[in-house]
Amino acid sequence: MQQDHPFVRDAFPDLVAELITLLETEGERELALHATDLRLVAMCDCGDDSCQSIRTAAHPKGQPYGEGHRCVPLLPEEGTLVLDVVNGRIMYIEVLDRRAMHNRLGARSRR
Ligand SMILES: [Zn+2]
Repeated sequence: MQQDHPFVRDAFPDLVAELITLLETEGERELALHATDLRLVAMCDCGDDSCQSIRTAAHPKGQPYGEGHRCVPLLPEEGTLVLDVVNGRIMYIEVLDRRAMHNRLGARSRR
C-alpha cells in the first residue's frame, strides 16, 4: 500500500498551476488533469543547489523506468521543467534552475 503522501498542489500550488498551463499548451490534456492529483512522495535528494525536483511516485532509486517511459519537456519562463511519465503516470517532476519553492505545508525541506 502506498503511504498517504500530501498532494503536490497543497505543497506547491504555484508549481502545479504552472504545470497545468504548460501541459495544456503542449496538448497534454491527460497529464494536465493528472497534475492536480500528484502526490509529493519525496523531494530529490541529489544535493544539487539548482535542483528542486519532486518524486511523485514510489520508484526504486537508480532503476530505469523501463518500457512505457517518456520524458515530457516543458517550456517554463524560468529554468527547466521536465516530467518523467510512465504509462501515463507522472513519476517525477524535474525542477532545475528555478527560484526557491516554498513548501506551503511546512514539511521539512531538502536540507
Ligand atoms: Zn535533484
